[in-house]
Amino acid sequence: MDIPNNKILLPKQELPRSWFNVLPELPEPLEPYLGPDGQPLSPSVLEVIFPPSLIEQELSPVIEHPIAEPILKALALWRPTPMVRAYRLEKALGVKSRLYFKDESVSPSGSHKSNTALAQAYFNSQAGIKRLTTETGAGQWGTALAIAAREFGLRVRVFMVRVSLKQKPYRKTIMNLMGAEVLPSPSEATISGRAALAANPETLGTLGLAISEAVEEAANQSDTNYALGSVLNHVILHQTIIGLEVQKQLKLAGETPDYLIACHGGGSNFGGLVAPFVPNLKNGEPIKCVAVEPQSCPTLTKGQYRYDKGDAAGLTPSMPMYTLGTDFQPPAIHAGGLRYHGSSPIISSLLKSKLIQAAAVSADDVFKFAQIFAGSEYIIPAPESAHALAYSCLKALELEQEGKSSTIVFTLSGHGLMDLSAYETSLNGK
Ligand SMILES: *Cc1c(COP(=O)(O)O)cnc(C)c1O
Repeated sequence: MDIPNNKILLPKQELPRSWFNVLPELPEPLEPYLGPDGQPLSPSVLEVIFPPSLIEQELSPVIEHPIAEPILKALALWRPTPMVRAYRLEKALGVKSRLYFKDESVSPSGSHKSNTALAQAYFNSQAGIKRLTTETGAGQWGTALAIAAREFGLRVRVFMVRVSLKQKPYRKTIMNLMGAEVLPSPSEATISGRAALAANPETLGTLGLAISEAVEEAANQSDTNYALGSVLNHVILHQTIIGLEVQKQLKLAGETPDYLIACHGGGSNFGGLVAPFVPNLKNGEPIKCVAVEPQSCPTLTKGQYRYDKGDAAGLTPSMPMYTLGTDFQPPAIHAGGLRYHGSSPIISSLLKSKLIQAAAVSADDVFKFAQIFAGSEYIIPAPESAHALAYSCLKALELEQEGKSSTIVFTLSGHGLMDLSAYETSLNGK
């Protein structure tokens, strides 16, 4: 009997022991973060919200960062994750291209966010911090941090964007079960929150505003730090475990990739997949790396490259990045994790130097291919991940029309089992 081997699995001992820091490999060094006075920020200023170890990683000139043993042990609960050949999806599409997905949905939180959550909770606990604040849009980051904080003995307060809390009330249940406290943002707990509520009591909230609330609280309490689930360099560093495993899995499968594809919200799952391949890209290897975003929040495809703040209230440093502006109000699309106005400075730099590409897909295509994937591979993708999936399918179909085929690897950044109301809405044609 011919049983297709769809899963490329790595044994536990193949778990990468170091993260890959792409900073020294960027074609141009990153421009510095700027403080409120417009001058390059002194890294020590960040110590009010981050532990020194993470600040060091944020600016590190070292390529290899060994992963501390307690983090490795926690990651090994579910890693290495499978890279799966999507035979059934290929058949459903009728394409000769080989489609693989790196399955980050198998983590305890159901998304790739656990990779950095565990690392950040660990480094904060090592620095003597007792409590973390954070924001969450779709709820995946809050869930990942709630679990990670539990693992390393920290308390957590999560500011959850109000519209997301309405759409996904059960995310709050999970965070509460893990011991985290969840407030709808804007909240009455902070100055930024109260100001936003005074200006518009009906506001849906935004990720930028929730960041302001979490940063404000962390800055004002000495035992409390802030944790960010995307955008920053140290987050992308922790996520490179995705791409490092994919490199081993491609070798195991005897494949060289033509396309590496991931969805883009702040850039962490895309950066995690692609950063370890940057030396290959600089060597001129023909790998097309595509960051996929929603047409309704087109940061990379329509945004400007300039200095901008990471949050609505302007509490964060200014960072050089592609941005739609901090006052950009994205529509309440269901891919809550892709509603951010900005992008990671690392991803922005790679795009500006044309080592990577960006593309936007429509909500109709996202749902269409999510439904085909669910009905062939029997995994319900997170709406965010479905952007990478949709682009991968469209590319495979386009290549087929041209009589070509390729090897396409995309990240399934999470599962959609907490997004069923979004699927219900789409099934009803709304
Ligand atoms: C948060 C999230 C994203 C978007 O964030 P990135 O930092 O761009 O990866 C994508 N997919 C899932 C499942 C998420 O939870």
